[in-house]
Amino acid sequence: MNPFANTLAQLKKAAELVKLNPNIYEIFKTPQRILQFSIPVKMDDGKWKVFEGYRVQYNNARGPFKGGIRYHPQADLNEVKALAALMTWKCAVANIPLGGGKGGIKVDPEQLSNGELERLTRGYTRAVKDFIGPEKDIPAPDVNTNAVIMGWIVDEYSELVGYPVPGVVTGKPLSLGGSLGREAATGQGGFHILQELSRKLKRDPKKTTVVIQGLGNVGYHFAEAAFKGGYKIIAVADSKGSIYDKRHKGMNPKNIIQTKQKRGLMDGCYCVGAACDCEHYKRVTTKQLLELPCDILVPAALEEQITGANAGRIKAKVVLELANGPVTHEADEKLNKKGILVVPDILANSGGVTVSYFEWLQNLQNSYWSEQEVNQKLAGVMSKAFHDVWQQKEKYHTDLRTAAYAVALNRVAEAMQAKGIS
Ligand code: GLU
Repeated sequence: MNPFANTLAQLKKAAELVKLNPNIYEIFKTPQRILQFSIPVKMDDGKWKVFEGYRVQYNNARGPFKGGIRYHPQADLNEVKALAALMTWKCAVANIPLGGGKGGIKVDPEQLSNGELERLTRGYTRAVKDFIGPEKDIPAPDVNTNAVIMGWIVDEYSELVGYPVPGVVTGKPLSLGGSLGREAATGQGGFHILQELSRKLKRDPKKTTVVIQGLGNVGYHFAEAAFKGGYKIIAVADSKGSIYDKRHKGMNPKNIIQTKQKRGLMDGCYCVGAACDCEHYKRVTTKQLLELPCDILVPAALEEQITGANAGRIKAKVVLELANGPVTHEADEKLNKKGILVVPDILANSGGVTVSYFEWLQNLQNSYWSEQEVNQKLAGVMSKAFHDVWQQKEKYHTDLRTAAYAVALNRVAEAMQAKGIS
């Protein structure tokens, strides 16, 4: 099943459960607009290369389209469509007045120089310029994109329209109108959800083991918050490999990152400065990491990590999806049957877009909030979203993903109905 087929399967399941109006269901099955284009870029050696770019605008019934842009060699239309649909449901679960969209470029950014990356980004911006803007569609960072790249988009777009438009993207540098707290928001939001869940399940963080796949912006900030919150991180992975703490004492993500920067995390040891502990830390493969016995498994990297093939071997009690779409529909059904609680992406990672919404609001008002204000408001949104979803889970006696879809579908459908679709 391709990623878009996965999201459609989930949509169908939830639409049947909530008895969604069939006309609205029909509309929900396809994006409102698909942009697909070529981006010619002059490379450093003087030759021109053409890259494939996408922007999918899924649904804007509740507000302007919103969602990141990813740079990845495997980015394709089906993936971007799936991610755009997820953004629609995610914004509705968080109950922020935005729709859903997503963009992508098929590229391995590690193969590009900084100058090439900038020219590619500016080319992308020119290709979508008539379709984005603070009232239309607001991109943001996603896999392999960051504040620097968002800064180039703000600049190119502002040049094209002739005046500064900070609100055209979120996740940009503070000096260009970015928001305090945006960088850590997805991880921090995921941590709030974990806290709500622990309270609900009466779990003591100190007795809760956590395994994290992915130490990028999302995984790292989540790890930091979980460590501070007293959870025991017993294994972590980045794209190069994974380490496991056999003693279950718990790792400090700050030390791991320092080690990673200095010598590469994955040399089979766990090192702080010059001191290495090779006795208690074991190198494992990412495949093994996902199958470790633990309380909370946190896929925070790419989609389709838990599939029909490995779902049967997952031993975690809870899967907290900080990546988008890390569990396929087939795997989801298997995990549900095994009694593993899956906290879906559209709830667990909605902290990122929530602070993006705060950033956009600050840009529109041209007035900026303290980090404390941002974090307090984020905590409020996440807590409300968790309880809204949990209530639907109890109402329908269903899994958390279907419950989250129920919340989202009802909210987006209400807006569509108010617009006259019956
Ligand atoms: N890329 C992030 C996501 O998938 C953030 C999107 C945004 O802030 O617009 O949720």
